[in-house]
Amino acid sequence: MYDRILIPTDGSETAELAVERALAIAERFDSTVDTLFVVDTDALELSLGTEQVDRVRSGRFGEMDELEATAREATDHVVEAGRERDVDVSAHFRAGQPHKVIADVAEDHDVDLVVMGSHGRSGVRRVLLGSVTENVLRSTHRPVMVVDERGEDD
Ligand code: ATP
Ligand code: MN
Repeated sequence: MYDRILIPTDGSETAELAVERALAIAERFDSTVDTLFVVDTDALELSLGTEQVDRVRSGRFGEMDELEATAREATDHVVEAGRERDVDVSAHFRAGQPHKVIADVAEDHDVDLVVMGSHGRSGVRRVLLGSVTENVLRSTHRPVMVVDERGEDD
């Protein structure tokens, strides 16, 4: 039923909660897990020029060490947590609008379940859902499980 699970992560604490939940499911169902970090090119374009953004789009982070480190840390965490549970995890990096890329990757990899956090790095907690999660829910027909730290009591 859950042969293939996608865990989009921005490395936030809430995303890491989603990682735990997703891996527990993967362990139970012997699922293959993909994790994905999307470089938000719209946000980048505001703070940098188009030239830098084109570099990122073509997979070259260039001088953007900080961004690359964030991306790697976020996905390494999932790979490592998977290893501890004997779950195979492949890491993916893409550039674009996060919710669109997440929905596209869910299609391309034919995933049975997307597991993500209710909030992320820039989270305003009084908002029920972060915009990436909200837009993923509006962009895909695949099942999405949203993990909210405020619903965690264990
Ligand atoms: P907002 O970005 O709307 O200001 P936020 O940062 O609190 O609010 P989201 O960005 O929607 O909330 O994050 C919710 C979840 O979406 C995260 O826990 C993570 O699972 C996923 N996510 C967010 N950004 C990315 C990204 N760039 N790449 C992959 N997954 C992401
Ligand atoms: Mn965000």
